[in-house]
Amino acid sequence: MSNQTTGSAPHSLPPLPYAENALDPVISANTLSFHYGKHHKAYVDNLNKLISGTELADSSLEEIIAATAGNAEKAGIFNNAAQVWNHTFYWNSLSPRGGGKPPSDLGGKIDSSFGSLDACKKELATAATTQFGSGWAWLVQDGDKLKVVKTGNADSPLTKGMKPLLTIDVWEHAYYLDYQNRRPDYVNAVLDKLINWDFALRNCK
Ligand code: MN
Repeated sequence: MSNQTTGSAPHSLPPLPYAENALDPVISANTLSFHYGKHHKAYVDNLNKLISGTELADSSLEEIIAATAGNAEKAGIFNNAAQVWNHTFYWNSLSPRGGGKPPSDLGGKIDSSFGSLDACKKELATAATTQFGSGWAWLVQDGDKLKVVKTGNADSPLTKGMKPLLTIDVWEHAYYLDYQNRRPDYVNAVLDKLINWDFALRNCK
């Protein structure tokens, strides 16, 4: 499982790993305030309501995601649990000191899987901009290889046996206040200025 600790119920909103204005101007404090304080918090609150009194009440977030994935009757629980996990993972995938070059241990894996850092970033940007509607673009480890995948809505590579290394949220709420319809501008700025390669490397281990 990835480098993300999650407790069991009641689930709580983890603190942001930086101040709300730390990602400005790529992502404004206004966007972070709504995205973290309203959207992420709502997923936590909804999840706690939905699992209260059920057999999932004492399960970890990862256990809930695994137990409900692909079950249409449990879609509400899955969507909220996965969105709680995805958002915590996304905050950690960004850093005010991000962008630039990955640490050499990760850079070597990127080169052997994609040919170059630029090719990896281009594949991430393409996945993020071509995900139709709401969803996520991910750098994952799949066996010995790194790959880029995209998922719709709340879906996660965790349920497909892949290990997430980092993610970019491409729901409109992630960028609309700052970029309106210009999703590619948001994605490219995140990849150039904020993406947290150190976090990705920690998740490889
Ligand atoms: Mn989001």
